[in-house]
Amino acid sequence: MTLVSVAQVAYLVAAILFILSLAGLSKQDTARRGNLLGMVGMAIAIIATVALALDQSERPWAVTALLIACVLLIGASIGMYRARTVEMTQMPELIALLHSFVGLAAVLIGYNSYLTEGHDAMHLVEVFLGVLIGAVTFTGSIVAYLKLSAKMNSKPLTLPGRHALNAGVLVASAVLLVWFLASPSIWPLLIMTVLALALGYHLVAAIGGGDMPVVVSMLNSYSGWAAAAAGFMLGNDLLIVTGALVGASGAILSYLMCKAMNRKFMQVILGGFGGETGGGAAEVTGTHHEVSATETAEALSRARSVVIAPGYGMAVAKAQYPVAELVSRLRESGVQVRFAVHPVAGRLPGHMNVLLAEARVPYDIVLELDEINDDFPDTDMVLVIGANDTVNPAALDDPGSPIAGMPVLEVWNAGEVVVFKRSMATGYAGVQNPLFFKDNTSMLFGDAKEQVEAILAAMPARV
Ligand code: NDP
Repeated sequence: MTLVSVAQVAYLVAAILFILSLAGLSKQDTARRGNLLGMVGMAIAIIATVALALDQSERPWAVTALLIACVLLIGASIGMYRARTVEMTQMPELIALLHSFVGLAAVLIGYNSYLTEGHDAMHLVEVFLGVLIGAVTFTGSIVAYLKLSAKMNSKPLTLPGRHALNAGVLVASAVLLVWFLASPSIWPLLIMTVLALALGYHLVAAIGGGDMPVVVSMLNSYSGWAAAAAGFMLGNDLLIVTGALVGASGAILSYLMCKAMNRKFMQVILGGFGGETGGGAAEVTGTHHEVSATETAEALSRARSVVIAPGYGMAVAKAQYPVAELVSRLRESGVQVRFAVHPVAGRLPGHMNVLLAEARVPYDIVLELDEINDDFPDTDMVLVIGANDTVNPAALDDPGSPIAGMPVLEVWNAGEVVVFKRSMATGYAGVQNPLFFKDNTSMLFGDAKEQVEAILAAMPARV
């Protein structure tokens, strides 16, 4: 058996492990195993790739080994440092940044492949498409990173005739591909790269507010296709399989998120969120009632059924630990407590589920929007902990609202609602929330963690 065929077998094993990993990650109780299988698959893939590179190297193998070791060391050190230091709330921006690397890698591989290999038509198409998808992913991901980390205004950039601009770039790219195939000079490739970089920038700059989660998963999908294109150029089956897995799962996730937000996929991709809703949001006015932690503790002592709707603020405050403590105290005294998790609560899909699992909240009391929305009328008390857009009734009542049509947790149908936040400030989508002014809603101002701890301290003997 030659080393090449051993490597092929290793790639196949790694590909199967990646598929099993994805399957494992789809359920909370198998997620840990899923992660482990993915890590083993990646280790096998890296060992096989390095062995192949050493075997096929034209330089003395020690030089190649040293170069690979240096690159691995630098990459792994930066990766480990970032993974250790990143806050859960910064995960989406980190993911966006990592996608940009995949895009850049596809562009570089494309140019390398063009400069070092033959120019048959099939290869030229692979190079062209790989560079195109890679360049769009590269700048698109950088803009997503800048927007998510608040280094750039998250409002959509709505240039006049922006759809025509995007379509124009695609038509121009098609023409450039014809030119590239007819005479494979570097010029059409270079011009297309500049256009694709601009397209990636423009596509994501045009998307704002609540549509960002879809963008992140869409870029995830693009980065997968870019990797698959690189796999074709390098003749690497594993890269093709892995790229296709990432590309397809990102696309499925984008679709599911659009469904969860009641947005049309094309509408999101074409951008301009919030810019096309006509008259704009209705003005929200009224007075709000404030409560203290002690009063909330007293109200909780009377409640028989409680639902907690967590959001981004719970993540920022790291309130999940005292919240878990509050839940177990309430449950011990016979109160029915459940969590209502909106599909885009927080800043990344599954954000709340991860935090609650971290704090050891039992999975079976963590329910999704569809599972719990009809139960609010029978609920005595809802604690909205750092959530805002995901509990905004304007999404249903105000057709002019930027979040109109997004399904929301209908917490206001419960007997009593207490909203934990620090001020009357708006949430991620920048729209005011009429929930705060409803008669059965009270505001508990302050840091969510401190307030939940204050409730725990003030809980009367019964609970
Ligand atoms: P929001 O972002 O709408 O609101 C969070 C609220 O938390 C704020 O209004 C803020 O109010 C409050 N808050 C912040 N810090 C604290 C703190 N320390 N203690 C108490 N409260 C705090 O949250 P949601 O989870 O309801 O909605 C998520 C939004 O993010 C949606 O618009 C969604 O589309 C978007 N998004 C979701 C992604 C995903 O994949 N899940 C990714 C990217 C965006 P105050 O400042 O007054 O305290």
